Amino acid sequence: MATAIRVEVLPARLGDCLLVECLRPGRRPWRMLIDGGPPDTWPLLKARLDRLPLSDPTIDIAVVTHIDSDHIGGMIPFLASDFARAHVRDVWFNGRPQVTQPRSAPRSVAQAETVTATLHGAPGAQPGMPWNLAFVGAAIATVPASGFRVLDVPGGPRITVLSPDGPRLAAIAKVWNDALDKALHPDPERPGPDLPGPLPDLDALAARKTAKDSTAPNGSSIALLVEHRGASVLLGADAFGTVLTDALGALALARGIPAVAVDALKLPHHGSQANVLADLIAAAPAQHYLVSSNGDTFGHPDDCAIARVVTGAPPGATLWFNYRNARTERWADPSLTTAHRYAVRFPSDPDTGVLVKLPVRVG
Ligand SMILES: [Zn+2]
Repeated sequence: MATAIRVEVLPARLGDCLLVECLRPGRRPWRMLIDGGPPDTWPLLKARLDRLPLSDPTIDIAVVTHIDSDHIGGMIPFLASDFARAHVRDVWFNGRPQVTQPRSAPRSVAQAETVTATLHGAPGAQPGMPWNLAFVGAAIATVPASGFRVLDVPGGPRITVLSPDGPRLAAIAKVWNDALDKALHPDPERPGPDLPGPLPDLDALAARKTAKDSTAPNGSSIALLVEHRGASVLLGADAFGTVLTDALGALALARGIPAVAVDALKLPHHGSQANVLADLIAAAPAQHYLVSSNGDTFGHPDDCAIARVVTGAPPGATLWFNYRNARTERWADPSLTTAHRYAVRFPSDPDTGVLVKLPVRVG
């Protein structure tokens, strides 16, 4: 079966670093890099980029979903690299110019913002990079009138922006300086909390009431639905479950379908129970659920979140963990996979993460 979309979830410890390739007959793959993990992911990402074909290693879009260190950390050296200058066609990032009024950004502050400075270029230094070109330099966000925003890449995929919405962009603007400071000087990372022990009744676990994510940086996440030759992947970044659910509801309404079924869903916020809501799983029923975390610091994925996936997913779905560890291995217990009719996949090589191939469904 021919592949339409390849999704690689690289091992970026507690963070996200994904490479998406949309395969095109007779042409090079259209490529999107989503986030760079924390700073120490850069050597691994560089090694992966070095394996791209020498004949055309173009990255069509490099997305910095939001300004948390576990996403932007590895993007800073990436964007400053010779590779990015030579091969990146467009960088999607909601930086200060997009989230705040330009007047409110004194030049000295703007230059201190590494990514912004890299993209803008600096006097006497290298020129800037293409930045939100597909949006004519404006913010990447949903449109209030429809609840989402569609962009058709000529000869490539259809991309639908599902997050952030206007209120979430306004929220990050208010705390921009603090959030950026935290991204560039994050708290020390630490191992995740102790394992919570055996998994109890999954239906009860899934139904457990949990607080919803309310942090401004996560809410500002750029989340995208990428559709190509009948295949689809929803890249949830660290977006709010409520925002994604609302946008998917609006998209389903516009398409006249009950729910936006996708091939693959990269769970938002590393499988946090604050973001992976039962409503979201219902709004985007998937064949493959991708979990990106090694459990450091926050202990992701949360058992509640994975229970919501396992009990809400269509039968036969596959959970893909990009780390095999004591936390994730519990989900491969045959008594669970049999009772709830799902499968579990782990990386065959811990240095490469997982690769999910989504087949062509149309000509
Ligand atoms: Zn994150």
